[in-house]
Amino acid sequence: MVLGKYKNWRGEQDAENIFWLYIDKAEANANVLSKEALTELESALNDIAQIKPKGLVFISAKKSGFIAGADVKEFVSLKDGKEAFELIKRGQKIMDKIENLPFPTVAAINGFCLGGGLELALACRYRAADNAPGTKLGFPEVKLGIHPGFGGTVRSTLLIGGPAALDMMLTGRMISAKAALKTGLIDMAVPYRQLKNAARHLIVNPPRNKLIPGFGKLANLKPARHFIAKTVRKKLAGKALKSHYPAPYAIVDLWEKYAGDPRAMYEKEAESVSELITMDTAQNLVGVFFLQERLKSIGGKESFRPTRLHVIGAGVMGGDIAAWAAIRGMRVTLQDREPKFIAPAVKRAADLFRRKLKDKRLAQAAMDRLIPDVEGKGVAQADVIIEAVFEDLNVKRELFAEVERKARPDAVLATNTSSIPLEEIAATLKNPERLTGIHFFNPVAQMMLVEVVKSAETSEEVFANAVSFVQAIGKLPLPVKSAPGFLVNRILVPYLMEGVKMMEEGIPPERIDTAAVRFGMPVGPVLLADTVGLDICLHVAEIFAKHMQMEIPEKLRKLVEAGRLGKKSGHGFYKYENEKPAKTAETGGADLTEIEDRLVFRYLNEAAACLREGIVEDGDLLDAGMIFGTGFAPFRGGPMKHIATLGTDYFLKRFQELEEKYGTRFHPDEGWQSLKQNP
Ligand code: NAD
Repeated sequence: MVLGKYKNWRGEQDAENIFWLYIDKAEANANVLSKEALTELESALNDIAQIKPKGLVFISAKKSGFIAGADVKEFVSLKDGKEAFELIKRGQKIMDKIENLPFPTVAAINGFCLGGGLELALACRYRAADNAPGTKLGFPEVKLGIHPGFGGTVRSTLLIGGPAALDMMLTGRMISAKAALKTGLIDMAVPYRQLKNAARHLIVNPPRNKLIPGFGKLANLKPARHFIAKTVRKKLAGKALKSHYPAPYAIVDLWEKYAGDPRAMYEKEAESVSELITMDTAQNLVGVFFLQERLKSIGGKESFRPTRLHVIGAGVMGGDIAAWAAIRGMRVTLQDREPKFIAPAVKRAADLFRRKLKDKRLAQAAMDRLIPDVEGKGVAQADVIIEAVFEDLNVKRELFAEVERKARPDAVLATNTSSIPLEEIAATLKNPERLTGIHFFNPVAQMMLVEVVKSAETSEEVFANAVSFVQAIGKLPLPVKSAPGFLVNRILVPYLMEGVKMMEEGIPPERIDTAAVRFGMPVGPVLLADTVGLDICLHVAEIFAKHMQMEIPEKLRKLVEAGRLGKKSGHGFYKYENEKPAKTAETGGADLTEIEDRLVFRYLNEAAACLREGIVEDGDLLDAGMIFGTGFAPFRGGPMKHIATLGTDYFLKRFQELEEKYGTRFHPDEGWQSLKQNP
């Protein structure tokens, strides 16, 4: 029999009476379990059951992978918990149907097997996977504020034991086929060319039921569950507050209370996930997912496919930019004044390659692509040239005058400057329209966002090419206008300065940082300032103060003068022991909400100003920039989303109170008026 009537599935029966059901989502590069795909699957399963095959294999017709999850777009259209519950129950029913088929079923997995895709695979009796590094299995739901809903919490904990399954569901991390085989999540890991054979083998010679590896089975018993759940909750509390991120706590609750009773657990899983999915956290995290998709799809110039990068300045930034580009396949030449300035960058790169690539040959290949180049020979060949030398206008000007002479006429000339206006650097160029900004964040390997800066002179073509370059190295480009601090630092600095101001007033640093973290920031402003370096903070603040009204707290200057530069000198606002801030002796009971408001209102006020000045095109891009550039509370959906959620009236009223108490720095920017009119 051949199945030909579905849009997303096709299938055929082979000579051995094995049925091969191909997942092939219509008009898409990747398979997702949309409502339509699920409806069709239910009907296809009925068709297949009737012909009583020897076995059924689910296999993808796409190179990109098995199934990347549910269709996230459908999450936002859910009206309420009831509609969500019905959808989830239907999904569960289909997975049950697969599980209860009277013949063996196999998921033959390649590439991404995530979320609903992994739940489908778990409903099968066996799983075989391609052992290539591109095979990734995981439950990323928690990153969207939910948890598995198609029986995944039940089947995963039964198959590999509570601790291993919880680890996957709570972290959302993806694991390789090798790791999946080790935990017992899959039965076979083979090269892709043998995947079909492996699936056939599992049907023809079904393996005996395996035991849960390690302590998994014991851990699923009631007394152990209580103990483990308690420990896990404690760990979670150190990472994310339940009020901000309820999903991980719900996962632990489900397992602790219902793991002994699968039927009850399926029911509670559906109830819990349909409640979570309509909450603000999940809706905002889904919004963040779309923001990321938007940044990924910002178009550069398709005809520009950079492969060669030249970086000048092998310091903190230049060295790490070069290493990142080499990891992503670029041939990179790295220039500095003397070999001794390049050597530390090469050593750091070797560590990064080892850690990231986890394969000696791949790490060596990346190393071979990173070429020290004191004489700057690479300039003439490069598609993109990034300058990351000292933050000094004259040094940069001199350098670009020379680079312009040597570079190919079509090469992109970019500066990584944080604070010098592009127009000033370009002043000595014959063709100032060739200069753009490609502004990375520190640490380069961790920070996904890169601001791509357009000055009044930068040509459209150069700018588009710079965007293409950022896409080519797998970072998220954020187009911004050239203005002091661009977007991210511009908004961050007033927030940092407010933190320092509060310290000047005698509020203990821990209290200030606690208030920020309680709001949902990844680190508080005091620890952040120490980490960035107080000298750098002061330098950037001074440049800002020249362009806009901003008071620099005296305390910051004094500490820098005294050589207290933050973490790097072992002492800043905090004292550091083993790289960790030591507790200060000061204690004080300043009101956390007042501290939080002072920090957040300065942050949001600057955000409103940036939007008014057109530093970024719209509020969504601003949200994306601040989430991916500074970690602004993702569960709030970004600064502008946060303003929209609480309403401008709330903020304007509170601004008035803060201004009366603390002065004009809390005067709402004019931008709030247009936010009020167009919420
Ligand atoms: P750094 O001091 O660590 O490194 C600068 C390097 O440039 C040094 O190795 C130096 O030897 C080299 N250099 C100086 N003049 C040179 C020349 N004429 N030719 C070749 N090499 C030369 O500085 P950094 O922190 O990496 O900052 C570099 C740039 O990146 C600055 O413009 C800074 O504003 C910007 N930036 C820094 C950060 C950060 O957090 N450090 C973040 C974003 C952007």
